[in-house]
Amino acid sequence: MASGRVESLVELAKTEKNESRRQRYIDLARKTALKYKVELPRDVKTKICKRCGTYLIPGRTLTVRARPKSRIILYTCKNCGKTQKYSYARENRQKINKGKNT
Ligand SMILES: [Zn+2]
Repeated sequence: MASGRVESLVELAKTEKNESRRQRYIDLARKTALKYKVELPRDVKTKICKRCGTYLIPGRTLTVRARPKSRIILYTCKNCGKTQKYSYARENRQKINKGKNT
């Protein structure tokens, strides 16, 4: 029941165009998940800043920087400045390199 509520809030957030309203849905989803001790969907977890809870949208609330040599992508939250590192797979790296050459 609770996880269904979290999921519907997440769905609302995904389709919401208004940024403050979307953030409110995300806040509610996080609070509901905490309250009922349910996990947020994985695709959403990676899109929420772990420090301040901002919904991360590349170019808007998130700066994405790739470091091809060390094969990591740096995600910086524009709201609080928290940086998260993700390593990316070989396939992705090749795609990125191809994109640069063309
Ligand atoms: Zn943040």
